[in-house]
Amino acid sequence: MAFQGVDADSFHWLVDMLESVEVGLVVLDLDFRVQAWNGFMENHSGITASRIREKVLFDVFPDIPKAWLTRKVDAVALLNTRAFTSWEQRPYLFKFRNTRPITGTEEFMFQNLTISPLSGPSGQVEKVCLMVYDVTDIASSKRALERANEQLAKLSMTDRLTGLLNRGTWENLVDAEYERYRRYGHPTSLVMFDIDHFKKVNDSFGHLAGDDVIKHAANVTKGGLRQSDTSGRYGGEEFGIILPETDAQGAKVICERIREQIEQSVVDTSVAPIRYTISMGVAQLTDSPENHMQWMQQADEALYTAKASGRNCVRVYGESDKRKARH
Ligand code: GH3
Ligand code: MG
Ligand code: MG
Repeated sequence: MAFQGVDADSFHWLVDMLESVEVGLVVLDLDFRVQAWNGFMENHSGITASRIREKVLFDVFPDIPKAWLTRKVDAVALLNTRAFTSWEQRPYLFKFRNTRPITGTEEFMFQNLTISPLSGPSGQVEKVCLMVYDVTDIASSKRALERANEQLAKLSMTDRLTGLLNRGTWENLVDAEYERYRRYGHPTSLVMFDIDHFKKVNDSFGHLAGDDVIKHAANVTKGGLRQSDTSGRYGGEEFGIILPETDAQGAKVICERIREQIEQSVVDTSVAPIRYTISMGVAQLTDSPENHMQWMQQADEALYTAKASGRNCVRVYGESDKRKARH
């Protein structure tokens, strides 16, 4: 700061200005003793300039990353150049509460930081000035935007009505599971299921009540699965489930549980209480399908067999149907 030749009067208002500017100003000697601490720093830290003067910064603020700041300040002093850190690299240097009502969602003040060398009369760097900028508004809107983008990405992967994966996303995962089987050969099963006589539900109770039934089926499915299982809404009232590390018998147990729970449920719609059932087809992956689509066709065939066997049941691809077998 070139104050040489400044008269006492101008010096006074210059200092006033630095005191009241909305940027934190801290002057440190090279041993990190505080030489200057302006109004911004007083207001946000609650520590007055007279109290902190000549104190070592790290003693007053033990949370400040000492090694990091020392490295920065040493480089500034040695090279006689400025250094800059943005909130994206380090959210803040001084842990100040965020006091702005408009960005109240952020707990702490986000800060950009500039460190400038200050030379003495000999031209040697003797002190450094930290300039602390409050960038909470910018940081908070950027973070909100990132959150919104994440949500959008999620929305484009999921089905609006049920929150299950949509068909495209789910099919990609079937493909990935198929490839995983090709590499590791672990047992894995696919389930397709479809609501029985769903047209009648729509015809009798209307489309909105039908939607409630679809949501109910999705919720029961989600509730009946493990973390590693993935369910998707394949079509209007058709669903798919990937069951990794599960053979056909294991898949059948899981399916029976879901099927039974649905059979015993009453969906409380605004029109009427509705009971419904589902039919399910299981296909454990073998070496025969040449791609994931053929695997899905096998599960679909098993589903068709379940429908043909009177509905409200589970059928496994490749197992002969019990009723037919009796004939
Ligand atoms: P099946 O037991 O053979 O499956 O008989 P179904 O009546 O369920 O026959 P199908 O599976 O062919 O019927 C599908 C019906 O589902 C037709 C369509 O109007 C209805 N549907 C498809 N998507 C939706 C949806 O998002 N909401 C509602 N309410 N109905 C839908
Ligand atoms: Mg259908
Ligand atoms: Mg149906």
